[in-house]
Amino acid sequence: MIKSKSTKSKPKKVSIPILQQLLDKIFSVYIRLRHANQFGFCKCITCGEMLSWVRIQNGHYIDRRHIATRYDERNCHPQCPRCNIGSRGNHEKYKRAIVAEYGVKVLEELESGKRSIEKLTVADYQDKIAYYKAEVKRLKKEKGL
Ligand SMILES: [Zn+2]
Repeated sequence: MIKSKSTKSKPKKVSIPILQQLLDKIFSVYIRLRHANQFGFCKCITCGEMLSWVRIQNGHYIDRRHIATRYDERNCHPQCPRCNIGSRGNHEKYKRAIVAEYGVKVLEELESGKRSIEKLTVADYQDKIAYYKAEVKRLKKEKGL
């Protein structure tokens, strides 16, 4: 498809997949910064390895394809690439970490989100992106990272 170069200033229609990509990116930065210590290091939720916030990943307990928990801060923690990708999330250890951190009720809540058919609207995405952008800015300043 050839993009037409219109000079009219019509507002562009933003697509959900693009917004989702943007939100994934900023949310991941937020999760890693949030858990980073004063030296900018995060502990892997499942093996305990310390890695720079820049190199560690945002690991989801409930798989990212479930939208209800995709941006739930209790479902997302810094995780080393070996656990996140190599061990496919290291699920059993992740489960124990969630229970230790938040209790069984939260674990059940996250699990039940799998059955949710919740969908995010364009406005939902835009709100979340704005919120996490501001949070990232705040955390970077606060932690000097
Ligand atoms: Zn790990």
